[in-house]
Formats: sequence, C-alpha cells, structure tokens
Amino acid sequence: MKPNKQTEQRLEVLRHSAAHLLAQAITELFPSTILTIGPATKEGFFYDFQPENNFIQSDLPAIEARMKELAAKNYPITHEDISKDYARELYKNNPFKLELIDGIPGETVGLSRQGDFYDLCRGGHVPTTGDLKSIMLTGISGSYWRADQNNAPLQRISGTAFFNDKELRTYLMQKELAAKYDHRKLGKEMDLFSFQDEGTGFPFYHPKGAFIINKLKDFIRNIWTNNGYHETITPAILDVALWKQSGHYENYKKHMYFSTVENKEYAVKPMNCPGSILIYKQNLHSYRELPLRLAEFGHVHRFELSGVLHGLFRVRAFTQDDTHMYCAPEQIEAQIVSSIQTIDKVWKTFGIEDVHYAVSTKPANAMGSDDLWNIAIDALKNGLTKAGKEFEIYEGEGAFYGPKIEVTIHDSMGRSWQCSTVQVDFFMPQNFELYYINNKGEKQTPVIIHQAILGSLERFFGIMLEHFKGHFPFWLCPTQIKVIPITSDQSQYAQNIYSALKDAGFRTELDESNEPLSAKIKVAQMEKIPWMLVVGQKEMEASTITLRHVTGKQEFGLSLESILEMGRKENKV
Ligand SMILES: [Zn+2]
Ligand SMILES: [Zn+2]
Repeated sequence: MKPNKQTEQRLEVLRHSAAHLLAQAITELFPSTILTIGPATKEGFFYDFQPENNFIQSDLPAIEARMKELAAKNYPITHEDISKDYARELYKNNPFKLELIDGIPGETVGLSRQGDFYDLCRGGHVPTTGDLKSIMLTGISGSYWRADQNNAPLQRISGTAFFNDKELRTYLMQKELAAKYDHRKLGKEMDLFSFQDEGTGFPFYHPKGAFIINKLKDFIRNIWTNNGYHETITPAILDVALWKQSGHYENYKKHMYFSTVENKEYAVKPMNCPGSILIYKQNLHSYRELPLRLAEFGHVHRFELSGVLHGLFRVRAFTQDDTHMYCAPEQIEAQIVSSIQTIDKVWKTFGIEDVHYAVSTKPANAMGSDDLWNIAIDALKNGLTKAGKEFEIYEGEGAFYGPKIEVTIHDSMGRSWQCSTVQVDFFMPQNFELYYINNKGEKQTPVIIHQAILGSLERFFGIMLEHFKGHFPFWLCPTQIKVIPITSDQSQYAQNIYSALKDAGFRTELDESNEPLSAKIKVAQMEKIPWMLVVGQKEMEASTITLRHVTGKQEFGLSLESILEMGRKENKV
C-alpha cells in the first residue's frame, strides 16, 4: 500500500476520534478521572489521564469492551464553538483543560459531543462512534503534563484504530514480526552493536557492526565517485559564531551540545551544511565548475529526550551520507534527475522496489521570491517526471528555505520509512553570501541542494536489520562463507577450499571443531552466514562441494571454480 497523504489524514481523524471514545469509556467506568489531551500518533492514539487510582494493565480489556459498546451505539459526533466562559464553567474542576482554554487564542473554543460525553477539541472527527469499531488498546505508561517532568504525573493509555478489522489484523501481524525481528534484539544476538549507560543514545559498534557500516560507506562512496561528488571531512566542533550565522543557534539550540574551551564557546555539529559551506567559500568559483558536489560522512550529534530514544532508530549521534550540491538555478532539474536515478538504484540494491516520491511546496512563512520558488518546484517536478517517477504534491509542506522531495520506502514488513531527502535551499547561500562568477563575469548566488540517500546510517542499519530479519545480503555480511568438513578426514580438503576462498577475497571461516555436522550447521545458521560449504568423503573424492544456503536450500556437486564465480556475482552491487 502506498502512503497517501489523504489516507494518512483520514487515519489521523479516525484515531483522534478513537481517543475521544477512550476518554468517554474512562469517564463512564472511572468517573473521577481527570481528562487532559488525546492526540493521534503515527501508530495509533493515546489519551493522558489523571486517575484517582492508577489504572493497571488488567483494566484494559474492560475499557476496550466499553469502547466497543459505545461504538456500537453509533452516537453522532458533533462539534460546536462555545464561549470560553462556558468552557471554564464546564471544566472548573479540571486544571489541565483550564490551562488549555487559556492558551487558545480568541473568545471561543471547540467542544465535541457524542452521547452524554463532551470533550474540549478543535475538531476533525469521524461522523459517528460507529466508525470506530476496529480499535484496540495497546498499553499503559507513565507520562507528564506537557511532557515535562516538573509537571503533574499522568497515565497514558495507548491504542490503535483502523478502518476495518482486516487492516487491524494485518497491523497486528506486522507488529508481531517486528517484535520478533526487533533490531535491538538482533543487534545483541548477532553481536553487532550495543548501548551503554556511559553514553545514553550513542551507539557502540562491535567489530561486525562496524564492518557493515564501513561496507555501507564503501557502497555510497562508490556512488559518489561515479556521480561526480568529491568527499570532504569537516570538524565535529565549530565556533558558536558559525551556528549563529547558519541560524541553527537560534532555531535548533535545544538539540545541540556545547563546549567552552579557552573562554570560547563551541558547538558540536548537529548538521554538516555550515562546514561544507566554509569549504565552498575557500575558493572563487566559476560557473564552469558548477554543479560542485561536495559529499561527507558527517557524524552529527543531536540531543533528544531520553524518553524518545529507540535503538538505532532514534539516537543522539549518527552519521549522514550527506551531500551538498552548489548549482545555478537552471541546473537544479538535471541534478534532480540524476539524484532520483541514484536513489532508485540504491533502494533496489536493498530489495526495496516500493519507493514513493512527493514534492513539498512553498509554505506560508517562506523566504525567497515566488519566481525562485516556481523555478525550483518546476525543476523538482520535471526532474521526477524525467526520471520516470510518479509523485504526490504536499502542498505548503516545504521548509521555509526551499522545496524538497520526500522519499518514502516500504520495508518487507509493510512499514514505511522516510530515509532519502533532496532539499533545495535558497536561504543558506544568501546567509553565507555565497557566489560564483557567471558567464558575464558577474557575481551570482548559487542554490544549494542538500541530499542524503540512506539518511542516517545508524537508522538505515536498524531498518535493514529488521527488513532482512538479520540476513544481510551476501556482499554486506561480515562472514560470507563457512567451510564445514563433515569429519577430520576432510580437513586438508576443507583447508584448501578455505585458502582459495580467502585468497579470492571472500570473508571466509573454517569450522575445525569436532562437533557433528548438524551442530556445525546450526552454529552457522545462528551466525546468519549466507553460505555453508559442506565437504564429506564423497565430495572430497569427486573434488566437489555441497553448497548449503542459510535458507536450507542445497546445491550438490559444485566445483570450487563455480563457487568462486557465484560469489563474485553476489559481491557485485
Ligand atoms: Zn477531537
Ligand atoms: Zn545540508
């Protein structure tokens, strides 16, 4: 299923309505509970409550059952605007709602009603509670009013809702798979990475994990080289003055790490753009050099609240395959065609065919002239069309400094991820007074295209680990082949095969243990090594090899030469 803004918005309305339904059920079952807010989330909805006595897990079935009863009653959900005075009267015993009422501009606030129940809300609901039949509650957790630990502690009940039971069932099946192949679990089992208390949110890569990350870098580096990018390396810690000029200090400060040395304030980079720009500024550039494509594996630090950290999906330090293309406005289109072709190829390499593109256009608070925006948006649209891609338009969802292409992929468990981005930027070139000399000998401002294909290597690693269920493609595996002699009689023969594979550059291990064959195979399977070369007396006498794939599929009577040839093919990406 392709993500579609319209479907997403309908789902959001459905789920937010389900949050009201939850609040209605709670109000009926636990009348003394104080209600706060109940938004939709990416996977469902929640409502934060201040109950008289804490809810416990075993309360959930009864609450869910009551929600279903209320859904079956098919109450119309209505919405009206009421005066703030009336609202304050309604909520005179609810300090949270009173605070919300104070925070809403104007003289009126919205109120939604279903049956006897009402809730403060700006609106956006399904027509009746009858639309909320495919719901389920998923858990209870602690939270704080306005997510601030200094505020009142609350209890959050979470759930999800779908348009029908079939979609709900699919979701549950995917959830089950996702839990089974959770990258944090696989990362531990496969000894790839860990997280330590000494560095909350900072991943530690163990040798095999580091190997895969480096392989990914080689893969991207190769793409950069083939597409005219030049790799750079810029410092992790830079003068705060730079971050003030870039606007990060003003807009992004709460996500940044700072350090003071010799009475000078520095910031750890949360993004790589300013460093790249300093390199651009070192030289005078002619139009003949453009587009100038600077690339970097930029290791950035971004502070995130510990509550939102999630394995490699959400960390506090990560590496971006970040590129900055400095070009003339008329060069944007050609660059986009090339970018899209590259992005498409990369995702195909990882077995992901379902890639969805969208162009985000000018928002209300945009900088830059309409002319420049139109040139850039047309360039993005034409670029996508020329690259043979269909795309959606996300009206008004561009950044204030320029339009962008959002790329959403779908993994093997049907989940969608936004990894690649291509972002046109008018703001930073002006802000840093960048220029090039055009063909008339005049100074002209370039446009920057920020692009990342994998996005965060950490997050990508986590996504791929789950997408492949731990079974990375042959070319990425730290160990690709394990040679397994059935008994010690074949030791020498196995040794010869092992040496030949090693010499040919394959990452190979030899199992010299005295375990029975079944045990050796089991170990290799646990290690998720894609190929096992099994050699017994029969193979030795015929100078052949049995190739056992990790999937269990076997190929008999292969020659060493054919194994090498097959391996070389698998290694090509
Ligand atoms: Zn509402
Ligand atoms: Zn950038």
